[in-house]
Amino acid sequence: MTLLRPTMTQIAAVVDSERPVCAFLHDLDALRRHVLRIVGSLPAEAELFYAIKANNDPRILRMLAPHVAGFEVASSGEILRVREATGPDVRIIMGGPARTNDDIELILAQGVERLHVESLHMLRLANAVAAQAGTVLPILLRVNLAGPVPGATLTMGGAATQFGIAQSDIPDALRLMKNCRALRFEGFHFHTVSNNRDAAGHAALCAMELDLARSWATEHGLDLAVVNLGGGWGVDYDDPDWRFDVEGFTRALAPHAAGDLNLQFECGRILTAYHAVYVCEILDIKAVHGRAFALLRGGTHHFRLPSSWAHNHPFVILPRDAWPHPWPRPECTDSNLTLAGELCTPKDVLARDVPVARARVGDLVCFLMAGAYGWDISHHDFLCHAHPESIYVDEAVA
Ligand SMILES: *Cc1c(COP(=O)(O)O)cnc(C)c1O
Repeated sequence: MTLLRPTMTQIAAVVDSERPVCAFLHDLDALRRHVLRIVGSLPAEAELFYAIKANNDPRILRMLAPHVAGFEVASSGEILRVREATGPDVRIIMGGPARTNDDIELILAQGVERLHVESLHMLRLANAVAAQAGTVLPILLRVNLAGPVPGATLTMGGAATQFGIAQSDIPDALRLMKNCRALRFEGFHFHTVSNNRDAAGHAALCAMELDLARSWATEHGLDLAVVNLGGGWGVDYDDPDWRFDVEGFTRALAPHAAGDLNLQFECGRILTAYHAVYVCEILDIKAVHGRAFALLRGGTHHFRLPSSWAHNHPFVILPRDAWPHPWPRPECTDSNLTLAGELCTPKDVLARDVPVARARVGDLVCFLMAGAYGWDISHHDFLCHAHPESIYVDEAVA
């Protein structure tokens, strides 16, 4: 169980010392060990794909490629990103709610192994494009469950969302499927929740989904080759040392996973969250209307996750002793501090009113667990501030 938590000395050794610090640091060795441990605790018949929307950095894709079953993508751009980073042979599966002709053509041209179909229209479109190309495209039907699913931070299914085919429409989709000669039905796809921290509850949800998949296949006389149970294994931003109980999840699911079914998972957050930090220098400190602010070299344009989730992102303050100016060094001691970025919007806040012992201009704020849905979901060019450095440290450094 590792978490990248670098020291001041380690950071100072790798960042650009000419400018105020603003960098993403990645520990690829620790990431590799973490992923190997997760893959190692899955049953042999299960396959773990990496959902690259969590972090599509080519260095991470290249590092992960030999250790995961393949990559899950949700756009044509992501297909090309995987191909460019890892070559023609790496396995790719594709989901996502809005598909075009061009997407399907690219899927076929780039050897994407399977499409997760999210509507009846998409089923017809994929069939038409594959027929035109004179080929057969393997597919899963993505299901949006009828019932509510408790316990996760983000709900993709079991609710009125834009994802998947409503459970009540699955029989229609299966009937339509039988006339789609250019598609090969292989099974069902479920990605119902994101950031589920309840491993036992997640196993129960997956078991229920497996039962549903089997009963539809039996009822409609179809071979069930693959069930993809999505991602959504949680992390806890309030407690960086907490870990999703992968072993417990696997144990609880095992009795439902027997047989020759290919079980797939496509996780993002749990794989890449832990082994990157986002480090920003404090450029200014002031009190306004009774609230203390630290202004950072950086902000939500690099790291939108805390504002997207409306949470205080976990951080540590790394003190730096050097102070180059003749005037007194602004600081804040034993009080609540709000960490704001450099953007001209009051929404550019990464943590609000968090108690700190001491923070000074020139100290560094190190945001932990910054590797998933950080840089990748952020509006990098809003206000044209400089991008952060991207630094890849190895075990010797971290
Ligand atoms: C985002 C997404 C994933 C990955 O979700 P995590 O919560 O990061 O594990 C997997 N499958 C689909 C369809 C997704 O949209």
